[in-house]
Amino acid sequence: MRPVVRAIFSFGLILTSTVALPAVDGRSIGLSAQQTAQPAGTATQGDTLPRVYLFATGGTISNRDGGRLTVDELIKSVPNLSQRVRAEGEQFSNVSSGEITLAQWLDLSRRINDRFKKDADLAGVVVTSGTDTLEELAYFLHLTVRDERPVVVVGSMRNPSTTGYEGVANLEDAFRVAAEPASRGMGAVVVLNDQINAAREVTKTDARLLNTFSSHDYGVLGTVLDRVAYFRKPLKRGGAQSEFDVTKIQALPRVDVILTYQGAPGDLIKAAVDNGAKGIITAGAGAGALSGSQSEGTAYALEKGVYVVSTTRTGGGTVGTGGGRGNANNRRISGDDLQPVKARILLMLAIATTEDVGEIRRIFREY
Ligand code: ASP
Repeated sequence: MRPVVRAIFSFGLILTSTVALPAVDGRSIGLSAQQTAQPAGTATQGDTLPRVYLFATGGTISNRDGGRLTVDELIKSVPNLSQRVRAEGEQFSNVSSGEITLAQWLDLSRRINDRFKKDADLAGVVVTSGTDTLEELAYFLHLTVRDERPVVVVGSMRNPSTTGYEGVANLEDAFRVAAEPASRGMGAVVVLNDQINAAREVTKTDARLLNTFSSHDYGVLGTVLDRVAYFRKPLKRGGAQSEFDVTKIQALPRVDVILTYQGAPGDLIKAAVDNGAKGIITAGAGAGALSGSQSEGTAYALEKGVYVVSTTRTGGGTVGTGGGRGNANNRRISGDDLQPVKARILLMLAIATTEDVGEIRRIFREY
């Protein structure tokens, strides 16, 4: 892992006269006309601003031609950020989202938990991420950062060298959401394109378009426009209500996702089991249906004591156990309405915590 680079941006400025300056992106904000350096030891207006900590992990939001933006450069890129929040941060990694390992996920979650524990005055945390697997990281952090304060995961679809780069606007919004008291108790949220989505529900729906993140029928949690506005709150467990303690998890077990399609062979399931998978997520057709050969594959997995969680490839809706009953004698579990990749994350954490299939079924009902 790269050494951690720390950047602290606490500007120590006083405002000598305040006027309404032209709004940044249409929002009218009172800004200082003149800023002077503050003598040491004197309270500043900045001292009363909410404090937000940024963990920068990489992704398109940083991916400038000729060299990725660092955490310092990301913070400095937001105009007048020091008027809204006191931002500090660290460079966790600077790679695309798909390159981050599960061990790094655990490390990141431990660092965020530690920071919240040690810093009672911190308002919230922002995490920059590549958008490809951003929803997976966000759900993992939702399940493992056990604090009322928000973890806001943010990225961008255009890179800093592209016309119309929206990373600065998204980052500014992420800082505002992290600083907002109403964000407490929401768990991890995803902020892009002026919208706040729940980590559990949001998914990337388009390979290229800016408005790619959607929670489908569930809708947004809120918006970030002239103010941060929430319209609803997630009911499922996460955040401070989560039972998953990353200080007790050394490593996440292997869990694989298997897609159903016409004539799909079940030997892929057998291969996953023979290679050490402790769980299989089936992304079945319709309400979780498998091919005949895949049903043989899941029977093999169940015989070997592997958990089999049924989900749907359709992108929405709830499923049962995908054929065959879940009972005390087998490890067949309903993935409910979770996207296959999110069911995988929940199953990894569940298996890392308990072997009891009844407990794992409870976990799938509650999270
Ligand atoms: N390839 C990038 C990543 O996930 C895509 C992005 O950031 O939008 O890191």
